[in-house]
Amino acid sequence: MNMSVRAKETIDACRFCWMCRHICPIGRATGQERNTARARALALSMVERGAEKLNSVAENLYECALCNACTHDCLTGWEPPAFTLEARREAALTGAMPAAIGDLVRRCMEWGNPFAPALPEETAKALREEERPSDTLLYLGESARYKSVASVRQALAVMKKSGAGFTVLAEEPSSGYALHFLTGDTEETVAQYKKCAQVLGQFKKIVVADGNDLLVMRRYYREAGVETAAETVSLWRFLSEQAGGRLRRGMQGAFTLQESCALARDLEEDDAHALAAALGEPAEMLLHGKECVFAGSLLMNEYIPETMACVAARRLEDAARAGAERVLVCDPSEYELMRANNAHGIEIVGLAEAVLEALS
Ligand code: SF4
Ligand code: SF4
Repeated sequence: MNMSVRAKETIDACRFCWMCRHICPIGRATGQERNTARARALALSMVERGAEKLNSVAENLYECALCNACTHDCLTGWEPPAFTLEARREAALTGAMPAAIGDLVRRCMEWGNPFAPALPEETAKALREEERPSDTLLYLGESARYKSVASVRQALAVMKKSGAGFTVLAEEPSSGYALHFLTGDTEETVAQYKKCAQVLGQFKKIVVADGNDLLVMRRYYREAGVETAAETVSLWRFLSEQAGGRLRRGMQGAFTLQESCALARDLEEDDAHALAAALGEPAEMLLHGKECVFAGSLLMNEYIPETMACVAARRLEDAARAGAERVLVCDPSEYELMRANNAHGIEIVGLAEAVLEALS
């Protein structure tokens, strides 16, 4: 297998401490041993030694959410998701991808997103109404644009209410997140990074609504040598700076926060938590902040919907155990999947919606 020395060393460095078995959100949901960093490392070490073919372990590669929870706790000090991503790249380059993943990659190439050939009409209309000249761009991301009309509506409303001057793009380029997730940094992925960076470079500031897009723009563009002159900032940091001092405290009922793993863990941003704390006193779920637990991906929902339903439901169990009547959710994917798999009668609210309420 064509993998970096670092990835090969990570595969062989596993000390079988079992920590990733306890914290992997996919393993927690499915209860299957194969859904751990340890099991994936073992499978890939067999491929590396010629005892298995890559296509025989390929499906397992795409069951990892790349949430980095195992990196945070792995005894080796390495990043297990890095070898998963390199193996996905190898699968893409050698034709070992499962058919469902191949379909998603084709959609990314043909449609510019993995979900649909055109935007939902309500989203398209809302974006057309908000397109205007400005040096600040609200970048919504494809999960919200194609799969979460509510997240689009909430982000637009809270930006307007904050008093910020901004614009949106009816034809927003993909950040490259989906292609990166599915195939690693292939030539096609880097081409999407460059195309997006070029568009972003026409603005002074980019307010990014989805943590996964911000992670790609900040980390993977740099690693691929792609630069943009624009300043990138998460929606939560922007709102903290723009309107944090004007929020009315006093959210009713017990509530908790479902943070974005990309922001809280990978980018070490705690602005969403600061906003939630400005609204009242959030109850903390088991594992939060840098240890927060992934609660679902709309991209993965395209090929393993039952697992995503289970992942979201397990996180809602954490919220129920924390005594929360309401969960404030940062990412559009987790917002939609928690709403769709809510067996506890907990109110699921977008963090943007909660901030909007407190600004009214
Ligand atoms: S990155 Fe997340 S989903 Fe993947 S193995 Fe690690 S903990 Fe599990
Ligand atoms: S946490 Fe790291 S060292 Fe421990 S079993 Fe998992 S991959 Fe191996």
